[in-house]
This record gives sequence, C-alpha cells and structure tokens, in this order.
Amino acid sequence: MTTANNLPGAPFFGYRQGQLCAEDVRLADLAAEHGTPLFVYSQAAILHALGAYQRGLAGRDALICYAMKANSSLSILKLLAQAGCGFDIVSVGELERALAVGAAPQKIVFSGVGKTRAEMRRALEAGIGCFNVESEAELAVLSDVAQAAGRVAPVSLRVNPNVDARTHPYISTGLKGNKFGIAHEQALAAYQRAAALPGLRVVGIDCHIGSQITEAAPYLEALERVLDLVTAIEAAGVPLEHLDFGGGLGIDYAGETPPDAQDLWRQLLARLDARGFGQRKLMIEPGRSLVGNAGVCLTEVLYLKPGEQKNFCIVDAAMNDLPRPALYQAYHAIVPLGEAPHGEARSWEVVGPVCESGDWIGHDRSLAVQQGDRLAVMSAGAYCMSMASNYNSRPRAAEVMVSGASARLVRQRESLAGLTTGEIV
Ligand SMILES: *Cc1c(COP(=O)(O)O)cnc(C)c1O
Repeated sequence: MTTANNLPGAPFFGYRQGQLCAEDVRLADLAAEHGTPLFVYSQAAILHALGAYQRGLAGRDALICYAMKANSSLSILKLLAQAGCGFDIVSVGELERALAVGAAPQKIVFSGVGKTRAEMRRALEAGIGCFNVESEAELAVLSDVAQAAGRVAPVSLRVNPNVDARTHPYISTGLKGNKFGIAHEQALAAYQRAAALPGLRVVGIDCHIGSQITEAAPYLEALERVLDLVTAIEAAGVPLEHLDFGGGLGIDYAGETPPDAQDLWRQLLARLDARGFGQRKLMIEPGRSLVGNAGVCLTEVLYLKPGEQKNFCIVDAAMNDLPRPALYQAYHAIVPLGEAPHGEARSWEVVGPVCESGDWIGHDRSLAVQQGDRLAVMSAGAYCMSMASNYNSRPRAAEVMVSGASARLVRQRESLAGLTTGEIV
C-alpha cells in the first residue's frame, strides 16, 4: 500500500505540513488555480532521473536520446534538449516537435515499424542522425527515397535479441513473435543487404527489449546477444560506429524497485569493457524512466456511490486522460492532496465519467474521501498525456511545470471550440 512514506516520486512529491506538494508548491493550490484534471510535473525530478544516466555514462562517448512518445509536451522536450539530450522519435509529428524546441537534428534517431516515404523524406531533409530500421522491406524503401532526394540515409538495424524482458505482454518487444525488429538469425543477412544498397550508410545497431523492466538481467542478456551479432556483422565486413541499447527501464508504480540507471550502466559498461566495446559510441533511448515518476494527475471527486458489492468513487479524470489502467491493467497509486483524512477509510473503485466499464483508474483502493475532495494519481508523467484522447468529447487536461517554489502553466486546457477544429458539416 502507498503511504506518505513510500510515495512514488519522492522526494520531489511529498507531504509538507499535511499538504501534498510538488517540490515547494502545494498541489491543492495548483488544482484551485487551474482546475482538474491537471497534470503537474517536477522539473527537478526529470533532471534527477536524467542525472542518473549521465553519471552512469560519464566519461564515455554516449548520447541519451529521450524516447519522446513517453511524454512529448514541448516544455519537457525543451528541458531535456537543453540538458544535452537527443530524441528517439517514431513519427514525423514527433520530429516536428523535437525541431520546434531546437533539438540538434544529428541527435535524433527515428524508430518505428511503419515509417512512410513522406516521413523518411522529411527526416532526411532535416538531417537526422539515424534511421532505426525494423525490416528488410523498409531498408529498400529508405534507400529508394534517399537516392531520389540525392541523399544518403544513415541507418541502424533494430535487432531482436529474443530476450524475455519479463514485463507485460503489451510492452514486451524483444521476443520472437512480436512485430518489432529483425530476428537475430536474419540480422547478418539484413546488414549485408543494407551495406549493398546505394542510398544507405550503415552506422549502427539497436535493440529495445521492452518497457517497465525492473531487473538488470534482461539488459545483460540482451547486451551479450547484441555484442555477439556485432562481432559477426563486423567480421563480415560491415563496420558499426554506434551501439544503441534502447530504453525500457522501469519506474515505481506500486513499490517496484528497478535498478538505478547509474548502477545498471555500471554493470553494462563492465561487460562492454570486458568484451572490448567500451570505447564505442553508445546510445540509449530511455522514455518512462526519465519522466514517469516526475508527474502526477490531479483530479476531483465528483460523486461517491456506495453500493452493495462495490463502492464507486467517481472522479473527473478518466481513461481519456489516464489510459494505462484501461490499456494494460496498470496500477497507479492514488492519494489525497491533504494528509489528514476526512472520516474513515473504506474501499473504493476509483472510476472516471467515460461511458465504458473499462474506464477505471484504480480498483479496491482504501481512501477516506468526500465529494469535492481532490486526489493525486501518482507516476503519471509517462504514457498518460501523450496517450490522452478526446473520447466522449472530453477536452484534454492542462499541464503545469513546477521548479522549486514556482509553477507555470505549460499547456492550456483544451477548449471546447478546439475539439471541433477541422470538422466540416
Ligand atoms: C518506447 C520505446 C522506447 C522507450 O521505452 P521506455 O520503456 O519508455 O523507456 C525506446 N526505444 C524504442 C524503439 C521504443 O519503441
């Protein structure tokens, strides 16, 4: 159970004088000023998470490419770009966001199984650092597009090390039988093909074995498998400049204790050094672990509906704001903004107003709440706002960035007029 002492996001989120705060700002004040549902991010928490990777990779030729699908809000991108990050993108829309905050194009890598020709053209024109190619068919199209544009596309092949990341099946990506990457057994042939295509220049190799990984072992296993491949590919005459180990490191939702990024990289670098790859250019693509514990979603209790079998606590945030529970049966801690509870705690099904039985935020949560109280949904910095939708014609939430004692609105609540923009009657 989440208590004041083991709150996800601590010490950047915690109770002070009985009031839940983000850094030095009371969340109740932000909810009163901006309304709910409201996402609140801690700048210090993001920089702290990044710092663990930076320390872990200190002294190496390494580039941290933030996987911006986790949260592509411009204020977060700008913060990370200014801190030296590159970006891992999966669409031309994400490319434009990265460019809009002044990201260096050479620090952008483009992942994804379904890049269109138009997306490839735009990324080539922008001069991105690398296309992380996921199939042989994509290699051929990219070469074609690059040649027609009079350019050479820098490519890496996403290989599938067939390692079990031991995470939820929807977010496990490195096993045979999912749509991502090129099978280990086919990788060498695919590299030889890539090297022979006129519009391509092979620059690296990448992998990404899954998400919300809470142990070091799958990373260590994948590392060995990828290094075996690198050895074979280079022996066949295709040199690789960089090695990209993807993202996937987990965060604290319900008391998970994933390895610290610095400690994980100490272990991985020891193996890289032992096998003679320690001086290679390294890249990583963390998403969730940079922002997940750095955000919360504030919501107001609209109605309490106690029943014979279940008690429902109906809040103003819903699956369109917080899609992870509906999508992955994910757990988010839910806590009151004021530490002193109203009356006795009882068990609640915390649900939103959307007309779907799948619209739930938390099952069987022990909370002492009254109508009008406000709650914080913790660990909501990753894969929440970036996955938010307008289902039920609900405007998307506002976002606030906190730094120390200051807070600024970084995204306005979507307007009702905005909801129908582009529609033609
Ligand atoms: C989603 C994704 C990431 C980031 O994953 P996290 O679990 O958020 O760290 C990195 N690389 C690729 C290719 C991805 O698809």
